[in-house]
Amino acid sequence: MIHFFNTLSGRREPFSPLEPGHVKLYTCGPTVYDRQHIGNFRAYVFEDLLKRFLRFQGFGVTHVMNITDVDDKTIRGARDRGLSLEAFTADYIKEFFADLETLRITPADHYPRATGHIPDMVRIIQGLLAKGYAYRKDGSVYFSIARFPGYGKLSKIDATELRATERVESDEYDKENARDFALWKAPKEGEPYWESDIGPGRPGWHIECSAMSAKYLGPTFDIHCGGVDNIFPHHENEIAQSEAYWDRPFVKYWLHCHHLIVDGEKMAKSRGNFYTLRDLIEKQKADPMAVRYLLLSTHYRKVLNFSFEALEQDQAALRRIQDFLYEVDNRAFPPGRRPEVPAILDEAKAKFAEGLADDLNISLALTALFELIKRINVLIKDDQLRADDARETASLIRRLDEVLAVLPPKREVKIPDELMKKIEAREQARKDRNFKLADALRRELAESGLVLEDTKDGVRWKILK
Ligand code: AMP
Ligand code: ZN
Repeated sequence: MIHFFNTLSGRREPFSPLEPGHVKLYTCGPTVYDRQHIGNFRAYVFEDLLKRFLRFQGFGVTHVMNITDVDDKTIRGARDRGLSLEAFTADYIKEFFADLETLRITPADHYPRATGHIPDMVRIIQGLLAKGYAYRKDGSVYFSIARFPGYGKLSKIDATELRATERVESDEYDKENARDFALWKAPKEGEPYWESDIGPGRPGWHIECSAMSAKYLGPTFDIHCGGVDNIFPHHENEIAQSEAYWDRPFVKYWLHCHHLIVDGEKMAKSRGNFYTLRDLIEKQKADPMAVRYLLLSTHYRKVLNFSFEALEQDQAALRRIQDFLYEVDNRAFPPGRRPEVPAILDEAKAKFAEGLADDLNISLALTALFELIKRINVLIKDDQLRADDARETASLIRRLDEVLAVLPPKREVKIPDELMKKIEAREQARKDRNFKLADALRRELAESGLVLEDTKDGVRWKILK
């Protein structure tokens, strides 16, 4: 049984999707006014871990991630650079997709853009006006939070204290400033706007996620994710808009990851304390897989403190797994199998899955993996591991890596015939007790990158990388 901590209930809950065997997932995507920093990628890597784990457990997953290409920040950025919204956001969108690929984040099924869904948003706003949840003021439309009794249930703010007659224009604000929020904003000098049945204007930020999630997943779906900074006001407002319009529960499970911080502060564009993925890879020569490992190896509900020392440690941990896989993939072990190995593999797999089933407890999952490596290494050291065991161990590690996605794909290693002949010639020389020739051949092989080890079960070779 899988359990997740649900922000809505404030508790750990057993997970069961609305439709057995299939999970509908919505995650808030980037606002494309700048490059994304690794704090943003913490959220996307956490969501990727969740999705990969659900698939590992046999669920189908339909995943939607929105692209916010119109909001206060994109409009400001486009104006400052004298570009259209579309021209301004295009490069950031391209870079975002390239970064997702670099971090091996599995693509979503849909990446709807806000600017491509204005009519869907307008329809909901019209409905909210008709039902009395929204009102017009100076050409804009606002959601009346006093009309929605559940307002505050996700972020646990007490909405009864708020003065319902006050309004906020901006897309982002804090709990102290919770007021009626803008669904549709009247045109302003020099800003892009759309003609619509509710008048000219442009959408507020929150309405896009209510409109696009329903369009691709239906009005009620299983999991909604984002960083904790999205809980208020963004997700609270999504719930209000969607439930008021459809009269149905919006989302069953809300999962939020905590922040990535540097020097005790949230990594954010506005603070200027951020690294992009490219900064790390190009300037710091970081291995993208070590960055992924760093982002996923702290439990998603804990603060992740970014530092270069942490990155180095994670690189070392990752190398331990990679070296081990290389070893079981490429060493020649004596044929056959050991009776105790299947139980070791089964136990590791079960513990890995149990760890992740416990609200994505990655520490338990990684402990299971390192424990496996340790136990198999003991067998290797004692010359106990056999070829079938090695193959099955490698195959389990690759299976676990379908969730982690930090290991390189298998390199096919083929020993050239000429070297195979030398290995055999050396074996013969040893049998003939011609140790001088045997040693000479061993040295030649070593120069070609092939190291031989003699064990009581025969010769074993290892290719140096
Ligand atoms: P934005 O581009 O600001 O709309 O953010 C996109 C996603 O990144 C959202 O899910 C945010 O909650 C998340 N996010 C932003 N900054 C951080 C951070 N420092 N740590 C973790 N997640 C973050
Ligand atoms: Zn959203």
